[in-house]
Amino acid sequence: MKKGSIFIVSAPSGAGKTTLCRRLTGAVPRIVHSISYTTRQAREGEVDGRDYFFVDEDRFMRMVADGEFLEWAEVHGNLYATSRAKLFEMIQCGTDVILDIDIQGAAQIRQKGIDATFIFVLPPSLEILEKRLISRKTDSEKVILRRLKKAREEIGDYMQYDYVIVNDSLDVALNELGSVVLSRRLHISHVDHEWIKETFGLEAAGSKF
Ligand code: ADP
Ligand code: 5GP
Repeated sequence: MKKGSIFIVSAPSGAGKTTLCRRLTGAVPRIVHSISYTTRQAREGEVDGRDYFFVDEDRFMRMVADGEFLEWAEVHGNLYATSRAKLFEMIQCGTDVILDIDIQGAAQIRQKGIDATFIFVLPPSLEILEKRLISRKTDSEKVILRRLKKAREEIGDYMQYDYVIVNDSLDVALNELGSVVLSRRLHISHVDHEWIKETFGLEAAGSKF
């Protein structure tokens, strides 16, 4: 069976990556959102095991020591991580997985040489980013200020990514994200060479892959 692909989506907090990733997995078949571990408190409406696995710091650090995480980072004063086993299990089953992780986590995955598509989501402006964080009503003024301060630093990393999407109109951004996923699926490195070979009687097709 063909393995699934990994899509990494990073953006400053409030740019809309959670909204975009949720809409994408609802609209495109065979792609799921990776569920991260975090020590952050659950926000109103968030569900353990759906939005995040909410754990305390002791459990988190034990999992770090046991090598259970593919990447982990401290973001805005909380710890976040991606489970190695859960991610590769899904990839092995042929499912594409989208990881909504910060720039430090993306850098760790890049450094490990893992085959993934890196996407950076920008807000239309810093003013709109602030408005979105305020209208989300999930963070205190202090937390919002800290996230805005960090945004400029995070945006400075955009050149490390393969694709940049500006989330102005949600529908347009969603369409663009979907196009990146679909183009990855159609890429020569991901097509089903066995099927082509058998169907068209080509002995050597795809042999270099
Ligand atoms: P992130 O996951 O990047 O922190 P969210 O997905 O939580 O951001 O989005 C932040 C807020 O902005 C939410 O209230 C969301 O509904 C809103 N939002 C997201 N995308 C758009 C958009 N294109 N236009 C207007 N509001 C948006
Ligand atoms: P939030 O607390 O708003 O849900 O997320 C805060 C930040 O943590 C976002 O930038 C988000 O992408 C990042 N994040 C979420 N899960 C992970 C993860 O598993 N690893 C890393 N490195 N960052 C994560």
